[in-house]
Amino acid sequence: MTEVCVLRLGHRPERDQRVTTHVGLAARALGARGMYLAGRDAGIVAGIRDVVARWGGDFFIEDGVSWKRCIREWQGSGGVVVHLTMYGEPVREREAELRDKGKILVVVGAEKVPGEVYTLADYNIAVTNQPHSEVAGLAVFLDRLFAGEELGGEFPGGRIRIVPSPRGKRCEEI
Ligand code: SAM
Repeated sequence: MTEVCVLRLGHRPERDQRVTTHVGLAARALGARGMYLAGRDAGIVAGIRDVVARWGGDFFIEDGVSWKRCIREWQGSGGVVVHLTMYGEPVREREAELRDKGKILVVVGAEKVPGEVYTLADYNIAVTNQPHSEVAGLAVFLDRLFAGEELGGEFPGGRIRIVPSPRGKRCEEI
């Protein structure tokens, strides 16, 4: 399976805490290895690490990264950079090609994404050419990339686990 990490750009601590947290949670649940956060936010880092400790897996989060250096280092290590944007090429036209890549850094923005990102990225990919959200774009992209396999993901080492049930909430302590 392709190794995927997410780079979250443009995080504004006073406005984006909830959405950035949801980017991290969706990335973790849907098969990404970790998230780089351009900007500092100790609260988000602590929140995501707490979820990992309770729910398992080895998802990482690193804040305070320089987005440009992150992109260059990823490409320098043989990885491919996919920027999600409504202006890009339709995901359906590129998903098969992207499945053959060993490592993908998925870049998602917040408000305005610097123009340079469009040229530094190896692919600019759209999940429809309509405006929506980084959480929705990331979720659909990961599901297309992993072709649904991520839905059966395992998260070893957690302290709690849900017992799926048709009605009500069933959890067990491990
Ligand atoms: N208006 C901003 C711009 O043009 O740079 C984008 C704002 S949007 C709320 C935040 C992020 O959601 C974008 O940077 C992009 O990563 C993602 N996004 C929104 N719509 C998308 C789409 N149709 N396909 C892929 N990603 C999308």
